[in-house]
Amino acid sequence: MDLALSVAFMLVVTRRVHLGLETLSRTDPLTQLLNRRALYDAGKVELARMHDHGDEMTLLLIDLDHFKRINDSLGHAEGDRVLTDFSAMLKRELPANAYPGRFGGEEFLVLLPHTGMGAALGLAERLRATSSRYFGRRVADLTISIGVACVDKADARLDTAIGRADRALYRAKSAGRNRVEGVMEAA
Ligand code: GH3
Ligand code: MG
Ligand code: MG
Repeated sequence: MDLALSVAFMLVVTRRVHLGLETLSRTDPLTQLLNRRALYDAGKVELARMHDHGDEMTLLLIDLDHFKRINDSLGHAEGDRVLTDFSAMLKRELPANAYPGRFGGEEFLVLLPHTGMGAALGLAERLRATSSRYFGRRVADLTISIGVACVDKADARLDTAIGRADRALYRAKSAGRNRVEGVMEAA
């Protein structure tokens, strides 16, 4: 009996450790958002679902404007705090079915399943308009730029749509930053 209990206990512990490690491997350590690998995994699942059900999906690629200046003027630790505050805001403000993740550095990717271009643009604009209030007074002039792209039925991989969101983001930056730009077309 004792042995059976011990084995059962060990199985539970092993399972917990396994689940914990799996969560760690999917999570960005600074922001606690999905990391890039987890974003691609979620993208694969949602892309397949979208194709099966003829559903819609959009992406937001968000980049903090002139973020280097924050590090240069206030230090790297304050820069880290801005990134974590911004990430917590994303989690709070986005719909429950969204996948917010850290794509790299001060760049964030959000997958929005079951969401068309109109709703995604509205959501992005709301994030842009309200983000400064989450950064705190020391960095009150920090803004964000967002590229929005539809995932197209012809897209076999998430990368194709991310490329479009990246081009839209580039347009937002070139047009002066603190803007949302969207692309519909697949080409
Ligand atoms: P732009 O508006 O063109 O995006 O300008 P930018 O300054 O935001 O962009 P740039 O790519 O020149 O600089 C990004 C900066 O983000 C530089 C890098 O040190 C900083 N950064 C990236 N990851 C982290 C991080 O984890 N913590 C902190 N504190 N800074 C980071
Ligand atoms: Mg930037
Ligand atoms: Mg960047």
